[in-house]
Amino acid sequence: MAAYGLDSAVKLASNETPFGPLPGVADAVSAVLGGINRYADHTADAVARCFAHRVGVDRDHVAVGPGAVGLLEQLALAVAGPGDEVVYPWPSFIAYPQFTGLAGATPVAVPLVRQRFDTDAVIAAMSERTMLVLLANPNNPTSTALTATELDRIVDAAPEQCLVVIDEAYREFVTDVSVPDAIARYADRPNVAVLRSMSKAYGLAGLRVGFLVADPLVIAAVDACATPFGVNAAGQAGALAAFEQDDEVRRRCAIVVAERDRVARALRHLGVGVPVSHGNFWWLAAGSGAHPLAEALERRGVVTRPLDGGVRVTVGTPAENDRFLAALEACLNDAPDLLSGWTIATGQQAQRAARWLDRLESAMTRLASHLDREHPGRTAPVPGEDETWDAGQVWAHVAEFGQYWLGQLTAILDAASTEPVPFGRTRRDAGRIEAIERGRHDDPAEHLAVVTASAGRLAELLAGMTNEDWERAGVHETLGVMDLDDQLRHFHVGHYEEHADQLDSILHRSPATQAGAPAPSASAPVASPLERRDALWRSLDSGREPP
Ligand SMILES: *Cc1c(COP(=O)(O)O)cnc(C)c1O
Repeated sequence: MAAYGLDSAVKLASNETPFGPLPGVADAVSAVLGGINRYADHTADAVARCFAHRVGVDRDHVAVGPGAVGLLEQLALAVAGPGDEVVYPWPSFIAYPQFTGLAGATPVAVPLVRQRFDTDAVIAAMSERTMLVLLANPNNPTSTALTATELDRIVDAAPEQCLVVIDEAYREFVTDVSVPDAIARYADRPNVAVLRSMSKAYGLAGLRVGFLVADPLVIAAVDACATPFGVNAAGQAGALAAFEQDDEVRRRCAIVVAERDRVARALRHLGVGVPVSHGNFWWLAAGSGAHPLAEALERRGVVTRPLDGGVRVTVGTPAENDRFLAALEACLNDAPDLLSGWTIATGQQAQRAARWLDRLESAMTRLASHLDREHPGRTAPVPGEDETWDAGQVWAHVAEFGQYWLGQLTAILDAASTEPVPFGRTRRDAGRIEAIERGRHDDPAEHLAVVTASAGRLAELLAGMTNEDWERAGVHETLGVMDLDDQLRHFHVGHYEEHADQLDSILHRSPATQAGAPAPSASAPVASPLERRDALWRSLDSGREPP
């Protein structure tokens, strides 16, 4: 404020909670101040027991440290030294290179792809010299997260001597069911260690308390590297009091998550692409423009964190977030070239992503609304054919196609050449038919879980794409060259919408009343050539030639 002559400023730089300490915490801390002439319990045993109980592990699987970063330092010193390698994706948490260097080990930084960890590259980077793999999940600063499937692959591929550390400082903000709770998932894996922090969701950043959950052998080694009395009396009292406030923590996290998603949508509609955030912050992938952008925001009283490749902005209160949005818009109006170094979609491409993401979200809401409803009818036949489906077949298909088309889209984006990439399949595809037949009697709730997971991956992909990615095209066996909008309309977002339409159409309608009914259409009457083409394409998933 002094530097720029401002009356007020908001601090959105360090991923703290904007809501102040949890109720009861300041009192609990004050209550121990009368005894601070004495050392606190150097094992922080009461806090460790309480945490162990909460996450369902034995006490000897838990170390308490002065923040998760304190434990990271202890871990690095305990298990890595000169000649050893420490693998981590990059950009990630700035403490990782710092402690790798402090331990005298060799850093192996693995570049991200579309702001996300590259699972294959992380696996390829591990060797017989790798002692540690450090995975922030969600990642600071890019806000992206690994799914259980991706993490499983890394954990399974890790060499015997290597400890996989999953840093879950932002676990409480994760709403995507595909992103696992690593303590629960890897409890029986001695080569996995999980970090948790009281600094973010629990609002205790200034008191320094964090946890490591690992095999007792690892815990013993990490404890042996601790600075004695590193977790002080105030931190221990504060942590115990904060653990009493789970309802309030959940309430605050829900506000942060709603704001996170609201502002991410607003940013994209503003022409500023941001990855789908799984934490309490957004990543502005400004590339070389990170420092100028952070400075321009700071001149307008919004303090953010410029880092390697971008600017990290913490979710604040709704008013603080609106101030950030207004400041960013003003910065970009003044200096549009602040967007030029970005490594994620900007301008019209970001808005394209925004529109598809909005449609995807409402398609998912519509599909979910069908879960507990009766569907006595059948779908109308595809023109020119007599096959009709019951709801079970629709669900099985919707659950089956997401993963398939996601694979196709990824292949198009990852192709070495920018020429249209051959892709896709037809209605006669054996895998497609078999999956629909196999899944048609399964519980729709299970199908919906698969659909939600696939849609989540699609959303991440769309949000993380670059301007160049948006120029990609594929060439389909019968439909010819299709740009990404064509593909999204036909095989991805529009495809989910189409089957939500189908479920609508067979809701509460008996087969008798439906017989002979025209093909249902929940969309506007077909008019423009583009819409006619789309309607044609829909009927053409059959592999027949367009008339
Ligand atoms: C904030 C953060 C931490 C730090 O936690 P402390 O408990 O405050 O030390 C650890 N890891 C990541 C990825 C973080 O962003």
